[in-house]
Amino acid sequence: MIQRRNSDLDVEESFTRESNRLPEKDLDKIANVYRELLQGIGEDVGREGLLRTPDRAARALEFLTQGYRQDLDQIINGAVFESRASEIILVKDIELYSLCEHHLLPFIGRAHVAYLPNGKVIGLSKIPRIVEMFARRLQVQERLTVQIADFIDAALEPRGVAVVAEGIHMCSVMRGVKKANAKMITSAMRGAFRSDPRTRAEFMGHVDRSHDHE
Ligand code: ZN
Repeated sequence: MIQRRNSDLDVEESFTRESNRLPEKDLDKIANVYRELLQGIGEDVGREGLLRTPDRAARALEFLTQGYRQDLDQIINGAVFESRASEIILVKDIELYSLCEHHLLPFIGRAHVAYLPNGKVIGLSKIPRIVEMFARRLQVQERLTVQIADFIDAALEPRGVAVVAEGIHMCSVMRGVKKANAKMITSAMRGAFRSDPRTRAEFMGHVDRSHDHE
């Protein structure tokens, strides 16, 4: 078993990459909609604190949705290698920040991603990038989990893939629908992680252990 915590890996820059930008005219359109939205809740868009808010909010939305404009092939380009590795490769505690598509509110948590190689491996730092690319879109947690698993399955054709995501959804927590810190847990298992209970148990054992440090 090879395992890494996300904190050991390269940290992503926290700005929108040039290639992921929206055209200026689309940003203006979004800013105008935010202006209307503020008026809709009865705010004075002319007051000092809100003057630049529509533009800032448009930029923030551009950042949070840049996954739509990222090229996955480019992300994994040059990072897939031939390998005889045959043990589970696991990256756990990958920070997860996404937006629920039903309320446009954040859900935050962690993802744990493992695969059983079958001749091909990917650079470990690419796995958080893959998670991030799917998270920076409007999502539901179940689909996010499945998309990560399916992408790794297709890119590496491994003997198995396992993805577990834990998320706290602000649309539930802030609106009082669920108790604070109520976590939603989703998983997607492919290949050996689905068919072999021991392989799945080994993975789940390591994921559960990651919580002992908290
Ligand atoms: Zn929601």
